[in-house]
Amino acid sequence: MEALKTLMIGDVVPMIRPILTLRKKRIVIDVDTQKDFFLADGKACVRNHRRVLANIRRVMAWARRDQVRVISTIQCHNPNGHDGDVCLSGTPGVCKVPYTLRNRRLTFDSGDTTDFSRDLLQNNDQIILCKRTPDPFDEPRAERILTEAKASEFIVIGGSTETSVLYTVLGMLTRGKSVTVLVDAVGSSEKSVADISLRKMKAKGAKLIESKTLLGHSSLRQVNACQCDRCRGKLRKATLSA
Ligand SMILES: [Zn+2]
Repeated sequence: MEALKTLMIGDVVPMIRPILTLRKKRIVIDVDTQKDFFLADGKACVRNHRRVLANIRRVMAWARRDQVRVISTIQCHNPNGHDGDVCLSGTPGVCKVPYTLRNRRLTFDSGDTTDFSRDLLQNNDQIILCKRTPDPFDEPRAERILTEAKASEFIVIGGSTETSVLYTVLGMLTRGKSVTVLVDAVGSSEKSVADISLRKMKAKGAKLIESKTLLGHSSLRQVNACQCDRCRGKLRKATLSA
């Protein structure tokens, strides 16, 4: 009761307020963390999915705990279109990896209307933006939401490094945003191309760090999203006993 009284005294509040306003505001940009790209049985699984899935899970747990907002993009292609067979709407592969979803979320389908309410990220923990192409800035609504999002730092995770992540990061940098890429939480199909993409992002001003720099060390090894032997820790044991 004493503590409560102290907090209610008027002159204490101005001392607290500056700390709140000075706190660094971060937003996680979660790029295409969909089953087709991140699970072993997906149609275009990234090559380093086990490690990346673990790091993505750590980032999402941190965001949940610290109430960091998340803007996610997903690719969603028309099954009757000519975009290949990845992330087709109505298939399991288009769905996001379960732990990348927040409870209070709002999904926008792809479309050319750019209207949305100003307080989107006040009332939701996560905005999910559907795209018809890897570049979110090709999509009018995604373009506007990403352009108008305000944060002192945008933390980028997801995949793939050489396409969607590259376009997202370069587009954010062009719009004057401060972008940090967690290099061990982005997945790629081809390492050499991904390395070149990361160098491009860095040259344009992105900060490249490992997730432990942001989150500290973690003992999390298994992520229970993918059912392949590597993700369930079976492959390593088999190799050791062989
Ligand atoms: Zn796996």
